[in-house]
Amino acid sequence: MYKISLITGDGIGPELSESAISVLNTIHDKLDLKFDITKLSAGDKALSETGKALPDETVENIKQSDVCLKAPVGESAADVIVVLRRMLDLYANIRPAKSYPHMPALRDDIDLVIVRENTEDLYTGKEFSLGDSAVALRIISEKASKRIAKYAFETAKQRDSMRKVTCVHKSNVMRVTDGLFAKSCIDVSKDYPDITFEEMYVDACAMNLIRQPEQFDVVVTTNLFGDILSDESSQVVGGLGMAPAANIGDKFALFEPVHGAAFDIAGQNMANPSSFLLSIKMMLDWLGNKHNDSKCIDVGQKLESTIFDLVKSGVKTKDIGGDKTTSEFTKQIVENIS
Ligand code: ATP
Repeated sequence: MYKISLITGDGIGPELSESAISVLNTIHDKLDLKFDITKLSAGDKALSETGKALPDETVENIKQSDVCLKAPVGESAADVIVVLRRMLDLYANIRPAKSYPHMPALRDDIDLVIVRENTEDLYTGKEFSLGDSAVALRIISEKASKRIAKYAFETAKQRDSMRKVTCVHKSNVMRVTDGLFAKSCIDVSKDYPDITFEEMYVDACAMNLIRQPEQFDVVVTTNLFGDILSDESSQVVGGLGMAPAANIGDKFALFEPVHGAAFDIAGQNMANPSSFLLSIKMMLDWLGNKHNDSKCIDVGQKLESTIFDLVKSGVKTKDIGGDKTTSEFTKQIVENIS
């Protein structure tokens, strides 16, 4: 039995959470993989109700669980996910971008993963006013840079792909901070002679993700660049509605969609739950590897292929060119899982 803490979030978060619970309950009943799910609050609603975007009780529950699933939260995201990433030392943000068939994608031959450093850069919140100026501190350490570089090379080693790591930075402008990040990646690359290593400036990477996305395998980069590039790579393969993510540390992990709370479509039963369901697939892989539980990995593969087959058959939500509601799409997934 795996204990899952589930932050239900804001905007489309509660709708995605209902979809996730239905699918997890189905896996529990039909495939005999047991979960104990605790719903937790964090985000804008929690802030207005309790005065805290990340209530202590939520943090305690997360710490007692085996793994956390987090639906998107709204304006208070920085007080929730950025805090959790640092508090739980979830240093690797993994954002795959994979082509699925029958999608309104720019390209259908993409299989890349962005490995984003998750604990420092401009996300440490060290901002202040100085006279008539506003200043933000960009923190890059050798320790965190080498740690994420190692994670990227290990990811490339395990992938059934071209075994290449692209280190993305802007060291021609940010010579000290990105200079350190690039040097750390170069140092780590020497331990992986069988994996191709290249460097690329972030502006060139943004262009190449449109021009030649098939050239990428594993992209390793700093926190802010990773956030921006992963929205772009998601769009290249069909949009945020299909984009899952993982936040991984040495002891714990949290899984969430790449996208935000999407208030423009909230409460309308039109969100694509695939981003969250594919995050569950990533969660099952992580649990399976951590606990040496091959059943978890098999069930994750089943879930991904159920989504894949459904989309292929034309059963899709509106964002990817279909006409199914969130609940209709979820119902089909639940019926098709076997
Ligand atoms: P944030 O800055 O918190 O990441 P954002 O302002 O970039 O948020 P998102 O909430 O990520 O905005 O959504 C961007 C757009 O993508 C929205 O207009 C929304 O309609 C669409 N979108 C996001 N997620 C989904 C989804 N699961 N299904 C359908 N459309 C989505």
